[in-house]
Amino acid sequence: MTNRIEADAEGRVAVLGAGVCGLYTALELASAGVPVTIIERETTPGGLAAGFKRGDNYYDLGVHMLHGFDKEILRRIKDLMGDESIPVELNAKIRWFGKEFRYPLQFGDMACSVPPLDLARCVLGLLVAEAGNRLKNTDPENAEEALIQLYGRPLYEFFFKEFTHRYWDTHPAQLSSAFVKTKMPRLVIKDAVVSALRRVGLGNSADSGVPSALVSETLYYSRNGAEAMPRVLANAIREAGGEVMLGCSVTRLEGPGVTDRIRVSFEDQTGRRFERDASYCVSTLPLPRLIEMLDPVPPRVVRGAAGELGYRSIVIYGLLVRRQQALDALYVYFRNRMFHRIGEPKNAGMKTCPSDHTVLIVEMTCSAGDGRWEGDEDTRKQLASELEEEGVCTPDQIVEQHILRCAEGYPIFSLGFERHLRTVAEYLESLGTIRSTGRQGAFCYPNMHGAMRMGADAAGITLEKLNKTAAGRCRPRLPDTPEADAAARMNRS
Ligand SMILES: Cc1cc2nc3c(=O)[nH]c(=O)nc-3n(C[C@H](O)[C@H](O)[C@H](O)COP(=O)(O)OP(=O)(O)OC[C@H]3O[C@@H](n4cnc5c(N)ncnc54)[C@H](O)[C@@H]3O)c2cc1C
Repeated sequence: MTNRIEADAEGRVAVLGAGVCGLYTALELASAGVPVTIIERETTPGGLAAGFKRGDNYYDLGVHMLHGFDKEILRRIKDLMGDESIPVELNAKIRWFGKEFRYPLQFGDMACSVPPLDLARCVLGLLVAEAGNRLKNTDPENAEEALIQLYGRPLYEFFFKEFTHRYWDTHPAQLSSAFVKTKMPRLVIKDAVVSALRRVGLGNSADSGVPSALVSETLYYSRNGAEAMPRVLANAIREAGGEVMLGCSVTRLEGPGVTDRIRVSFEDQTGRRFERDASYCVSTLPLPRLIEMLDPVPPRVVRGAAGELGYRSIVIYGLLVRRQQALDALYVYFRNRMFHRIGEPKNAGMKTCPSDHTVLIVEMTCSAGDGRWEGDEDTRKQLASELEEEGVCTPDQIVEQHILRCAEGYPIFSLGFERHLRTVAEYLESLGTIRSTGRQGAFCYPNMHGAMRMGADAAGITLEKLNKTAAGRCRPRLPDTPEADAAARMNRS
């Protein structure tokens, strides 16, 4: 049986997905007095930035710390979190063939650790690449060309080629150059070379790569790890009168493009079905899933384009380890291991239980359903032996092992994806009553503050569409119905 609540559909906004983007959208709207329902598949809010309690400890879905670059968002989050927010100084490393480098990569560290001949080749390669960029000024055709433009061929071959291939399970020549422009940081040394060339009048507006990460930076975390921020956001939405439906999967969106209402169908984990009518919908769901849910069914060309947009999955092995401390950093990147990063949240102030144990968050990319995803015997054995080889812990020190998964971890920027993305985005725009945003919905790589900024923007556009101002709005609450009671119970789980 379907439980329908349509008493206040007028002006209601449905927000799909309670990752940080959806949560921020819903909070902005609820704070402006808009009746809002946010619907999330998982029983815990936060999406990629969620933290889960397993046993006596919290495990992040990949260590998540908030950057302070967006001052307005930082202020809002700190206000909401109060004492729960703790500042942490960035301390990250890269480990490669037994050597440790500071992250972001510093020229001085490389000079001390890389054999002089290799180092000279890399620096020369970087200079040649820079000079070539300035003379030719052509756009790279794929990620391999973009990486060579960015780092020079020797450093690409030496450091990035194999890692990139393994990370994406795709050769860099098969990836779009957009992946490099939006995801790969420039090296600190590259910025130095670029500014030196600018000083002698060889500027180039097409410098690719995001700016090099800051060498020193304050990040924001909590004693429970990533868990706290989404929880606090979800509570703030409820306090502002919004409805937070957790453990509910959206299955269908009926009406966009043909009526001015959208009927959102979703079901909880027991299979009970619900519907909400809304005037507008902000979706942060993966784009291909959103397209599949639409009724009327989108044109074949749109469905085909959406089918070309893929995601790389991520699996986290959360380990409770019988050691006071395993790493001397917040997190360490590994270039030639099955895992690409290990975080130790205790080093960022997270409580662990017992206190003489530590939690490790081991991140790997994978394909949903493969051995890593399933946590098969081979993966566990290899993981234990690689951790021991790196001196992180011995197999007998691993007391608990918890697997956390996300099928849609990283949008894959395969060659030509831009065209498919444009087709899908233009179609959604033409419907008039849906906005698709966030990491999965806009198919991009924001950090948490970036995803929340996208949420704030989506809320602003929604308010405009609803043609309502924040001032003087009433805040309708759901009527007291058995369904609303059931929803409230689910939200406490
Ligand atoms: C391993 C890793 C580490 C990271 N570390 C950091 C960091 O330290 N600092 C930082 O700033 N950023 C970090 N990021 C980036 C950041 O986590 C994300 O970009 C951000 O959280 C994206 O938020 P979002 O809301 O846009 O997307 P998501 O978090 O993906 O939210 C989408 C939501 O939709 C839900 N959903 C999907 N299908 C349905 C359905 N049918 N019905 C209902 N709900 C559905 C999902 O469950 C999810 O909650 C990291 C990312 C990764 C992968």
